[in-house]
Amino acid sequence: LTDQNYAIGIDLGGTFIKTAVVTANGNVLHKHQIDTPTTRKPDDIIKIMSNLVSELLEKYPQAIGIGIGSPGLVDKERNLIRESPNFPSWINVPLRQAIADHVHLPVFLENDVNCFGLAEHRWGAGEGTKYMLALALGTGVGGAVIIEGKLYRGCSGSAGELGHISVDRNGPQCLCGNLGCLERYLGNSWFLEAASEELSDPSLQSPVEVSERAKNGDRKAVQFLEGRGEILGSGCVSLMNIFDPEMIVIGGGLSKVGEPLFNGIWKIVRERAYASLAKKIKIVPAKLGTTAGALGAAAVGFEAGESQ
Ligand SMILES: [Zn+2]
Repeated sequence: LTDQNYAIGIDLGGTFIKTAVVTANGNVLHKHQIDTPTTRKPDDIIKIMSNLVSELLEKYPQAIGIGIGSPGLVDKERNLIRESPNFPSWINVPLRQAIADHVHLPVFLENDVNCFGLAEHRWGAGEGTKYMLALALGTGVGGAVIIEGKLYRGCSGSAGELGHISVDRNGPQCLCGNLGCLERYLGNSWFLEAASEELSDPSLQSPVEVSERAKNGDRKAVQFLEGRGEILGSGCVSLMNIFDPEMIVIGGGLSKVGEPLFNGIWKIVRERAYASLAKKIKIVPAKLGTTAGALGAAAVGFEAGESQ
């Protein structure tokens, strides 16, 4: 595959629907975003997505596949969105088929964090690796697992929920049912709740504010971020023991709080992982930014096109 081939990616998010057209070499021919309709109803969203696809296919008729990234649990066999935290009214929505009805191309549906991981593996921080994990620190904490260069999906398509590794079996209750999950400490709202408490400031609005304070020399802010990094580091040690990856890529809004978070991760990894694993592991921030989801959906589109 060369720059002659390209695929279309659509990243369905709670706030934006992002599109990208990408060549096999990772050249982005097109990227765009529109607001997700506030109704968030399946019919409205399917209509908008079908129109976007038609417009893109007029401009890029040679596309070999279409990938759709969606939050929530994606049923690989039936190609449904089983349930999605961003779209509470979506139960078993046949999104893939609804889009496929409009086009003569293979269409693939994939979980959005898996798309992010695929993009970072194919064209981003993990380019050239064979064994890579990705963690996305956003509203929730998502993950993706690349084994021998391929996305690992598990028996029902739900593998890679790395944010629901428990780091304290008596820890706080997570929405998934487990206790003490990584997500429960690093998901946006939990992170902010803990930050507000530890910094005694209920006005904190975003993780970036905490990192601003850390940069300005607020020791409490630095300590808080390092502490969250240590929690994440503890999860990374478990992941290293399971997967022996070359690299763990950390993305999402929270990855931008920077150095103190990574210092905390490394502290725990050096203390607690097998020395031989700790020596060679790379733990790095994601590279592709906020379009990674749409790029990864295009990567899924390539997979779909290639398998035809
Ligand atoms: Zn959980």
